[in-house]
Amino acid sequence: MSPHVLILGGTTEARELAATLTARTGTRVTTSLAGRVSRPGAVAGDVRIGGFGGAEGLAAWLRAHDVSAVVDATHPFAEAITANAVRAAARCGVPAVVLRRPGWRPGPGDDWHPVASPAAAAAVLPRLGRRVFLTTGRLGLAAFAGLTGQHFVVRSVEPPAPPMPADVELLLARGPFTVAGELALLREHRIDVVVTKDSGGAATAAKLTAARELGVPVVVVSRPPLPPGAAAVPDVPGALAWLGAG
Ligand code: NAP
Repeated sequence: MSPHVLILGGTTEARELAATLTARTGTRVTTSLAGRVSRPGAVAGDVRIGGFGGAEGLAAWLRAHDVSAVVDATHPFAEAITANAVRAAARCGVPAVVLRRPGWRPGPGDDWHPVASPAAAAAVLPRLGRRVFLTTGRLGLAAFAGLTGQHFVVRSVEPPAPPMPADVELLLARGPFTVAGELALLREHRIDVVVTKDSGGAATAAKLTAARELGVPVVVVSRPPLPPGAAAVPDVPGALAWLGAG
């Protein structure tokens, strides 16, 4: 039987890995999506959608589907599924690796304010600005719900649900974004502070360049750590090499 790779997806890298693996080798590939986005893009190979039911449920799925390797290519802030993947794979004796893209690094001219959590971002905001471009995702709005002195321009893929701040202007959009587009957005909305997670990657990095050019401070929420002992690679070639398919 051909090897069966489970990719935990929801990122550009997961899609690229699925496309490369299915094109290059005889490997069977299944990508798992959480089901948060109503219209996910096309994915090569098999796709399954929805939670597994914790690490136990994922372990049962790995056994039932004869999975030979797991690549957790979920978003760097998708902490629960990464922990479950590492635990479930260890329990089943299935090799697993986390594909974790590098975080962003500030350069000359950047005015970054690293914080440990969305709550910490909300705590520093009042002294940094009043017109906020908030890109922490629709589930990250609750931490800012108590702020009343700021106008929030919120960009997310899907409409957010309460709790959220009182003064919110919503922009529904999906990356990749360009520097020209982000400059126009920051200017049009007279943004004086940006809040982002340290997602890393090129698709959503243009806002950082635009903020630097306009001298706008950026509050950057740091990533959660990888589970202890987890094997990790930084990109798709690294994952292919780890799979022996590079
Ligand atoms: P999370 O907090 O780590 O996961 C919560 C639960 O959702 C997991 O316990 C699992 O449910 C289910 N789940 C998450 N990812 C899954 C997947 N790929 N396949 C099947 N079930 C999954 O995750 P999250 O932060 O809500 O992110 C959800 C998805 O959106 C991920 O696939 C991630 O790659 C993508 N995404 C997240 C962000 C972000 O900022 N967090 C940004 C862009 C994309 P069970 O315990 O029932 O298995």
